[in-house]
Amino acid sequence: MRRYLTSGKRLLAWAALAAPALAMAATPEQLCPGQWVTPGPDGRVLGHIPYREAPLSDLVSAPAGFALGQPCYVQRDAAPDLARMLAAAAVAPGVGNRLRGVSCFRSIEHQRAVFCSQIGPGKKCHDAAERARSVGPPGHSEHATGYAIDFGIRPSGGCGDVNPCLARTPAGQWLIAHAHEYGFELSFPAGNAQGVTWEPWHWRWVGASITTPGAARARLLFARARREFPAIPAVIDVADGWIGVIRPAAPAPAPSVPAPGSPYLQGHPQSYFIQPLPTPTPQPSPLYRRNRRRG
Ligand SMILES: [Zn+2]
Repeated sequence: MRRYLTSGKRLLAWAALAAPALAMAATPEQLCPGQWVTPGPDGRVLGHIPYREAPLSDLVSAPAGFALGQPCYVQRDAAPDLARMLAAAAVAPGVGNRLRGVSCFRSIEHQRAVFCSQIGPGKKCHDAAERARSVGPPGHSEHATGYAIDFGIRPSGGCGDVNPCLARTPAGQWLIAHAHEYGFELSFPAGNAQGVTWEPWHWRWVGASITTPGAARARLLFARARREFPAIPAVIDVADGWIGVIRPAAPAPAPSVPAPGSPYLQGHPQSYFIQPLPTPTPQPSPLYRRNRRRG
């Protein structure tokens, strides 16, 4: 019978066989109950780049008194710079010891709880696409790497956590001016091409210099994000060239603070950290090491 197939029919038969394989190339994934999303051809989900979860053995506690509410764990390599930055901010005129950690490392399941908690009838967001404008979907958040920190201030002075008003406070302004000196850069600047809300509280660590211990590892992890969606303010280091982070010849635009009422100030996840989270933050260190030995 095969000899009776014309070349056109053969093509159709091949396409029918190949269709399941082609469909597998972009398999829809379930982010939350009832929320299925197909990753784009470049692997991004709703604009967000995929990230693996850091091994708990890579994480350490942030300096005492920094965490707000829940424990704050960060990558071991980022911790010294975080401590130095907090110390510098504490003695900066007009700033003082106000910077705090609203959210640091989040496991993928913790991220899922944060992401899904505000989707549905009566919630802040109608669907996953709307939610992804201000929160990374599980498996696609820089917080899973342990290098990202959401900063807040205490006393808040009327500026709530994860709120763009941070950029107008002395502490927020100090971060914009000095965080890069300690290897931190602002992942989601105003008007970013990823379509993510301007997040002046969210900073990722890549090391101020390629010679900083751990900086090369962090920069490899964020190489794609830094190349395709540059941070502003960013850590600028000519040594980035060797891992393929090519910077535009033109100087980066000055950090901007959108005017009140601009679209970037709307739809931010002001209250999602205040929600009780069903998944507790994992406890690294003693218990984890004990389990590892048993395993
Ligand atoms: Zn964040």
